[in-house]
Amino acid sequence: MDSVPAPMKKELSVIIPVYNERENIRPLHAAMKPVLEGMAVEYEIIFVDDGSTDGTTAEIEGLASDANVRVIEFRRNFGQTAAFAAGFDYAEGEVIITMDGDLQNDPVDIPRLFDMVRNGKYDLVSGWRKNRQDTFLNRKLPSVIANWLISAVTGVKLHDYGCSLKAYRRDVVKNLRLYGEMHRFIPAVANWYGVNVAEVETTHHPRVWGKSKVGISRTVRVFLDLITVKFLQSFSTKPIQFFGPVGLASTAAGLLISLYLAGEKLLLGMSIGGRPLLLLGVLLIIIGVQLIGMGLLGEMIVRVYHESQKKPIYTLKKIIGERPDAGRGNDRR
Ligand code: UDP
Ligand code: MG
Repeated sequence: MDSVPAPMKKELSVIIPVYNERENIRPLHAAMKPVLEGMAVEYEIIFVDDGSTDGTTAEIEGLASDANVRVIEFRRNFGQTAAFAAGFDYAEGEVIITMDGDLQNDPVDIPRLFDMVRNGKYDLVSGWRKNRQDTFLNRKLPSVIANWLISAVTGVKLHDYGCSLKAYRRDVVKNLRLYGEMHRFIPAVANWYGVNVAEVETTHHPRVWGKSKVGISRTVRVFLDLITVKFLQSFSTKPIQFFGPVGLASTAAGLLISLYLAGEKLLLGMSIGGRPLLLLGVLLIIIGVQLIGMGLLGEMIVRVYHESQKKPIYTLKKIIGERPDAGRGNDRR
C-alpha cells in the first residue's frame, strides 16, 4: 500500500553558538556536511547567532538553503550559556550535540559521541581537549585549576569541563535551566538528576580566524557559579540544613560567652562594659539568629519554587503502569 511516510523524527541536533565568527561559518559548515551525511541519520544543525555584529548573521542566513540548517538570532549578545539554552529549547533531535563555532572543535568527533549516547549506555558524553591548543598562561592554567576545583566540589570527575563539544540524550537538556556561566556545569547539574556521564578525548585545533571572546575575568564568574551549583546541588531542597547548623553553633557560642560575662558581672561584680568579648558574644548571637532566619526563608522559597512550577523534588526514570491522567511526567522536572 502506498502511503506518505510520516516525517521522521530527528535523531540528531547539533547546536553551534556563534558570536562574531564570520570567517569560520562556511569552513565549519563544509567540514560538518560530509560527517553528518555519512552518519545516515535525520539531523539538523542549529546556528545560534549570539548578537554578532561582523556579518556572521548574513553568513549563517546564507546557509539556510541547506534544508538541515536552522538559524536562531538573538537581538543582542547574551553569552554562550544563553545561546546553548536557546538551542536546547528549539532542538528536535533525540541526541543533542553542542560545539563551538570557531573550528576549534572538530566535527569528525561527532559520530563517536553520538553513538555513545545513542546506544543508550550514556546520557551525557563530554569531550576532553587533551591536547588543548590555546595559550598556557591565560587559558590553560586557569582551566586546569577550574577543572580540578569543579571536580573536587561537585564530585563529578571530569578533566575538561570547559569543552563545548558534548553530547546529551534529549531529556537531559530539555528541562535544564541555565544561568550565568552555567553551561560548563551541566555535567554536575545533570549528575544530580542521576544521569550516566562519560568523558572521551576529542580533537582540538588552534583558533585560526577571529578572536577568542573570553578573558581571565571569566575565571571569577565561573568560581561564583561554582558556589551556586554546589549550594543548589547539595542544599536546594533543604536550606535550613545548610544555614541551621552554622546558625545554631554561632548562637550557642554567643550565648556561652554572654553567660560567662554575665557570671563575672553578677557574681564577681566585674565591669564588662569595655570588654571586646562582649562584642563578640553579641555579634555571634545576632549572626546565628540571622543565619537560622535565612534558612527558614530558604525553606519557604523552596516550597514556592517547587510548588508553583510543579517541580518535583525527585527525577523519574520511568513509570510502569502510569495512569493516563498522571500529571507529573519526566518532562516536568
Ligand atoms: N560565543 C558566543 N557568545 C559569546 C561568546 C562566545 O556564542 O558571548 C561562541 C563563540 O562564537 C564560539 C564559542 O562560543 O563559537 C566559544 O567561544 P571562544 O572561542 O571565544 O571560547 P574559547 O574557545 O576561547 O574558550
Ligand atoms: Mg574557541
